[in-house]
Amino acid sequence: MRISSLRDGAIVNANVHTMDPARPVAEAVAWRDGRITLVGTSAEVLASRPAGPLVDAHGGTVTPGLIDSHTHPIWGAELARGVDLGGLTSFRAVSAALRAEADATVRKGEHWVFAWNLDYAALEGRPIRGVDFADAVHAMPAVVMFHDLHTCVATDAALAHAGIDGSETFADESVVVVDADGRPTGELREPSAYNLLLRACPQVTRSQLRDHTTRVLRDFARTGLTGGVVMDGSLDTLDLLAEIETTEDLPVRLDVALWHEPGRGDDGVEEFVARRTDRGRRWRTGIIKLFLDGVVETGTAWLYEPDTCGHSHRSYWTDRERFADVVSRYAAAGFQIATHAIGDRAVGEVVETYRKVGVLAANGAPHRIEHIETLTDADLSRMGRLGATASMQPLQMQWRRHDRSDKWSSRLGPERASRAYRTRDMLDLGIPLALGSDWPVAPFDPRVGMAWARLRRPPGLGGAVFEPHQVLRPAEALHAYTTAAAKALGDTSRGRVAEGMAADLTCFGGDPLRVPADELPELPVLATIVDGGYSFGEERP
Ligand SMILES: [Zn+2]
Repeated sequence: MRISSLRDGAIVNANVHTMDPARPVAEAVAWRDGRITLVGTSAEVLASRPAGPLVDAHGGTVTPGLIDSHTHPIWGAELARGVDLGGLTSFRAVSAALRAEADATVRKGEHWVFAWNLDYAALEGRPIRGVDFADAVHAMPAVVMFHDLHTCVATDAALAHAGIDGSETFADESVVVVDADGRPTGELREPSAYNLLLRACPQVTRSQLRDHTTRVLRDFARTGLTGGVVMDGSLDTLDLLAEIETTEDLPVRLDVALWHEPGRGDDGVEEFVARRTDRGRRWRTGIIKLFLDGVVETGTAWLYEPDTCGHSHRSYWTDRERFADVVSRYAAAGFQIATHAIGDRAVGEVVETYRKVGVLAANGAPHRIEHIETLTDADLSRMGRLGATASMQPLQMQWRRHDRSDKWSSRLGPERASRAYRTRDMLDLGIPLALGSDWPVAPFDPRVGMAWARLRRPPGLGGAVFEPHQVLRPAEALHAYTTAAAKALGDTSRGRVAEGMAADLTCFGGDPLRVPADELPELPVLATIVDGGYSFGEERP
């Protein structure tokens, strides 16, 4: 796709869910120069002689453009390298996949083996150790990323190449895991630890990164996404997007959160503040991302009571006062804050921090809390009173097992696991709820995301439901991917199909509100329109 000059168009004979309370349904929509000019009956739109391509939807459904509220499309190029181990649940299958990747690596004349999306369950109870993978990769340097992007396991050859030979001290709670003799086991827990390795391995080139980014974003558009919130931005990310826009349009809009790591000093804060209003045609920043804890599976979440292994009792920020200080400085500078908080204590701490600095960001939207995997009743009520946005990913329940044999459930124990992903409770208390995928942690397809929010079990497979009282209704799931997602960004130009709004639209072959959730992942996306131009569907729904 090149820079599109064609930003006019119209769709008629559609079932339009406008998400606009003033006119909830319509048949047709027309837009000019990227802005919606008319919403009405097909006859009204035809009579207005709309400019640009006129498309007959043949009864298909049009909704406001879908937005993934939490994603990593660019970081994915670095972390989702090599073979995708997703869906492999036995150690044998993982070893076979790594062997095939190692053989392919040798054939290409390359020396490092990369893999990602490893499920903790595939270790079948083994500790996380690089030595267990050495055979499969012919003792080559290998980097295997777990599905959650919080843990990486490396072979001895990779550790040696990176000069990792013992424990390290970080500005946060990242860990190079060592054995009783102080030798690294290969497990690198949390980003500061695995970045030691990623910086030492062969780098992704600028042009690979650029190609990967546009390819992933085109795939986003194919699933109906018109926007995404990038949760790991750096100044380099902004430069990359600006560079892409010199020659082509981004297939979807991106709101980029700049990632402030605990080790970042005051100069770093100033550096981000200076770039707060950076923007391009289809991207902008103005959000700061912070991690207050890690993940339940490795004991790096922050819980009120330690997990069943005695872990997950610490903040990712060794210096907690610094966290509060950084939040208030960015908020005062006009940023919206998005904090990763998975454990109940982390959520409670963010709520308290936001309460102190004031929950509303300069863009008019409340600050955001990302993930919220387990939450106490008391903190749920406090969230309700505060009004911070809950940005959640119910599809990440796909790694839970009903017998609680998975690491997430067994570490939390039954009580805390039963307070998981409280999406219905959030809505009942009027807490703004935006949904997303956290791709490449989980698939970015919003149809899958909506299906999980409605079913709380794997779509299409039946079976028991996780916390049945927390399911969302069809309109609520769609709202969380459209209107609420835009509102969570303080974006008043998206999230509704109404005159004057941006022409960001998703066109489906059927009605996502009527299709049973089990069939939603198969519902065809006919077209994805961003800023009035077709990012997918080529004007032929
Ligand atoms: Zn994330």
